[in-house]
Amino acid sequence: MKVLVMNAGSSSLKYQLYDMKDESVLASGRVERIGMDSSIVTHEPADKAEVRDVSEILDHVTAVKRVIDMLLHPEHGILSDISQIEAVGHRVVHGGEVFKSSVLVTTEVKQEIKRLFDLAPLHNPAHMMGISAVEANMPNVPQAVVFDTAFHQTMPEASYLYPIPKVLYRRHKIRRYGFHGTSHSYVSAQAAALLEQPLASLKMITAHIGNGASCTAILDGKSFDTSMGMTPLEGLMMGTRSGDLDPAIVPFVMNKEDLTLNEVNSMLNKHSGMLAVSGLSSDMREITEAMAEGDKNARLAFDMYTYRLRKYIGAYAAGMNGVDVLVFTAGVGENSVVLRQAVCEGLTFLGIELDAAKNAERSKEARYISTEASRVKVLVVPTNEELLIARDTYELAMAAGTEQHS
Ligand code: ADP
Repeated sequence: MKVLVMNAGSSSLKYQLYDMKDESVLASGRVERIGMDSSIVTHEPADKAEVRDVSEILDHVTAVKRVIDMLLHPEHGILSDISQIEAVGHRVVHGGEVFKSSVLVTTEVKQEIKRLFDLAPLHNPAHMMGISAVEANMPNVPQAVVFDTAFHQTMPEASYLYPIPKVLYRRHKIRRYGFHGTSHSYVSAQAAALLEQPLASLKMITAHIGNGASCTAILDGKSFDTSMGMTPLEGLMMGTRSGDLDPAIVPFVMNKEDLTLNEVNSMLNKHSGMLAVSGLSSDMREITEAMAEGDKNARLAFDMYTYRLRKYIGAYAAGMNGVDVLVFTAGVGENSVVLRQAVCEGLTFLGIELDAAKNAERSKEARYISTEASRVKVLVVPTNEELLIARDTYELAMAAGTEQHS
């Protein structure tokens, strides 16, 4: 079965075509600048050269049509007929409290995703456009939705409630949801497989450190706590997001700087974090390079970033009364030798002992970076959210097919 995985944003659409026979990627690509003139389609077939096409793509329906055209193209294509795509899986950021796992798209599911627009105004409407665009182009293909929040639906009340008037939770569902769930779920399962132990027997902390960053405590094989909250702004310091801060700063700044709510929101999401502290960049590579050249602000940004991450790891070890495994993943977690070193250096009291040589190795494989003697196993596990979306979609489509035929 071939499964198309899609991540639709408001002006972009990323895709991967999987052959589920061996979980290989047949092609991947992206459409950028949807709704603007000179939209760009970049298509990367697995065994052929990359193609770029610039044209006017005014909406998501046309964007999906262009993706299909690429997949069917006589030269750059992969498929001979569109019916070879047997299911489409979408990444959806917010599943609220309704979606505790991935599901096939139905009229009710679409209504629920729309009801959640308030909680993820930048993301869920774009995902819905992606779903509708696939429906318009491939009306008979089953579609599945895989939520960034679903993995964290196992959090206990003590983790997910905010200490604010309960009426706000009842009326508006203000609570902690957590994000990057697909990644935390994928890397925790991979780590358990590498350790050859059941996930449920391990106290695990997974650190997804990319442009966005979150840390999750996994107990009994389930998300027990996670650092992002009602929105992805809470928790760790990130590339451009502040992470945790005193909420009283918001009204104070609005008053002193005469800012609107939208302006403060934008400041905390887009102009804070490493970018603000370093005054240089939100990109960890640039920060570490500048730091090596003696840039003091870059050093401060790095120190704050790693200190805050270390505090979360310590807090989750306390929350679970112990930790057996620490996993680093995503762009920074997988690649930054110095970040992993700085974080682990301060956690020796937990029984974390990094193997400097293993930590410095460059590899695309999941691997240990702790010493043999380290009580806590430290792992680097490359994340693959698209593969997990493809797997869930495949399983849901297969189960529905079996039901139909029985
Ligand atoms: P996103 O959250 O957008 O998916 P990624 O997981 O791709 O982000 O992570 C992007 C981050 O990874 C950037 O800060 C980038 O600097 C960092 N990164 C990528 N490669 C390296 C590297 N070799 N060393 C340090 N940081 C890296």
